[in-house]
Amino acid sequence: MHNVYREIASWLEPLGVNVRIDAVGNFRALYPRDRKSDPRLLIGSHLDTVPNAGRYDGILGVVIAAALIEAWHGEKLPYAVELIGFSDEEGARFGVPFIGSRALVGRVDDDLLNSQDAAGTSAEQAIENFGLHPADIPDAGLHANVCGYLEFHVEQGPVLEQLALPLAAVEAIAGQTRMKFAFRGRANHAGTTPMHLRADAVAAAAEWITIVEKEANAHPEMVATVGSVIASPGAANVIAKEARVSLDVRHRTDDVRVGAVEKLTEQAKQICSRRRLSLNYSTLLNQPAVAMDPFLIEQIEIAIGASGCKPYRMVSGAGHDAMIMAEKVPAAMIFLRTPGGISHDPAEAVLAEDVAKAIECGMHLLHQLASEADFLKGTPRA
Ligand SMILES: [Zn+2]
Repeated sequence: MHNVYREIASWLEPLGVNVRIDAVGNFRALYPRDRKSDPRLLIGSHLDTVPNAGRYDGILGVVIAAALIEAWHGEKLPYAVELIGFSDEEGARFGVPFIGSRALVGRVDDDLLNSQDAAGTSAEQAIENFGLHPADIPDAGLHANVCGYLEFHVEQGPVLEQLALPLAAVEAIAGQTRMKFAFRGRANHAGTTPMHLRADAVAAAAEWITIVEKEANAHPEMVATVGSVIASPGAANVIAKEARVSLDVRHRTDDVRVGAVEKLTEQAKQICSRRRLSLNYSTLLNQPAVAMDPFLIEQIEIAIGASGCKPYRMVSGAGHDAMIMAEKVPAAMIFLRTPGGISHDPAEAVLAEDVAKAIECGMHLLHQLASEADFLKGTPRA
């Protein structure tokens, strides 16, 4: 067993859990071990991370789940808890995110298994190299008695810190569009070509990028980013013939996001025609927003209030395993304040008192759900 699994197992096994590693490497611990046929609440997050990462993204949610099982130990609740540590959420190795949670909802397909890492190793081969059997992946699927999924996670942004709040209920995970644009003009000498006779690709892209920022500012809660600009030939004394730029637009409402993306595409065309350039573009990702379960959001707010904190609802701009789990079961998330709003960086931090509040909130939530018979009877959605 890999070190991280062994470590978590060593905390949980004395409490009486059934630990297994499923066929895509998810850590799964059922508590109590003998309650396989009871309604089952899943609590977890991911164990993997990104290169040069912080210490809390993902793993904090797994540790909080373990703390809840520990705190609950000795009490009797009318359901079992399955702690899940997802094996691959970030997609850092194979470029495909959510391998762990996709196995639970039955969406590990050949495309995913054939995707390769930088060294040319396929995901399928990596699974075998890890001592697991890809043929067993269907056994990783959701148990029929699962009534819901909860995930504690660092916010990874500055919103809660700015509001001076330790916790929030996540009401939706924003939809996302990713596109690439190529503005194509004509290369020429930077010294001899008068301004009015140029077809400058970088100047055209720059004009458009400021419009991207304005468009995002015009819609509450929209974020839009041009994170990559590549000019070619890329020399100080040559007018650029091409500027390739990326676009990332996120919003909770799909119509608003799609409308903004259409408008931005139209603006890029207009800029190019006015400046006598051509435009090429393609869409890489068009991912709808995912709503979290309204009943669980309400229960989380009650639990946050019972912990002495002010309830707050927010949208997650980042993707999480919860949005994959929401395809099949009621799912919801609890965010913890992120000092400085810094994540995916070694400076990522949490406040110990916020973690204590999260565990307190989790305990209230587990007790509240114990008296919700309809919720516990829930079956996976088709
Ligand atoms: Zn994460």
